[in-house]
Amino acid sequence: MIHAKTEEEIEILRQSSLLVGKTLAEVAALIEPGVSPLALDKIAEEFIKDHGAHPAFLGFHGFPNSLCCSVNEQVVHGIPTSKPLENGDIISVDCGVYMNGYYGDSAYTFEVGEVTPEVKKLLQVTKECLEKGIQEAIAGNRVGDIGFAIQQHAESNGFGVVRELVGHGLGKNLHEAPEVPNYGKRGRGVKLIEGLTLAIEPMINLGTKEINQLSDGWTIVTKDKKVSAHYEHDVVVRKGKAELLSTFEYVEQVLAKKKERVN
Ligand code: MG
Ligand code: MG
Repeated sequence: MIHAKTEEEIEILRQSSLLVGKTLAEVAALIEPGVSPLALDKIAEEFIKDHGAHPAFLGFHGFPNSLCCSVNEQVVHGIPTSKPLENGDIISVDCGVYMNGYYGDSAYTFEVGEVTPEVKKLLQVTKECLEKGIQEAIAGNRVGDIGFAIQQHAESNGFGVVRELVGHGLGKNLHEAPEVPNYGKRGRGVKLIEGLTLAIEPMINLGTKEINQLSDGWTIVTKDKKVSAHYEHDVVVRKGKAELLSTFEYVEQVLAKKKERVN
């Protein structure tokens, strides 16, 4: 069963989602060759706790850290390690917080140093997939409309759409109904109602859509070892246009500043 959130609940959710956006910006400022995912995780954990919230992933089904850090061929659920990032890597940082009884959950894939044009394009297209999915998150549409828009855009650019992992409802639980696949058919699936809060999160592979899980029980990797990108926003289904709860604004301010420094 799906249920709409009250406006009061949505405001609390917004605060959780915004804190995730601010945490991702703290992380963004530090990402460069030589920095380890584990160092990013520590910073995020402290930042979240300093803001009176709990890192949602820490201890979730036994997950050992506060961030999921998925480097290169890792799709999602990467466990942060002490292995330094290298020039040309990409890293998906997925962050969740729990505050005042509600979850926020958002992810961004960062470039480390200079990445190849091919990888840049994957990142660009994956972010566009997220935007196209969000555009379909309107009352009266169906979950399949979101998935269709994402799949269509990714595949028309020659990329693979991961099937096994999906977006989700969000609220008092990190994962609520409905599931929000990144593939689907127009007009199929659960009907979207106003006030439904969703985490939409395309996971798009440069090559095959096929994945494996590593023996750590968490990390998802592409079967062909080619890179994978992942962006995630929390949204409220509204009439006519979805409303964003999470934001990349803080992250992108940091990235713009870093770029200025380099140039
Ligand atoms: Mg997430
Ligand atoms: Mg999620």
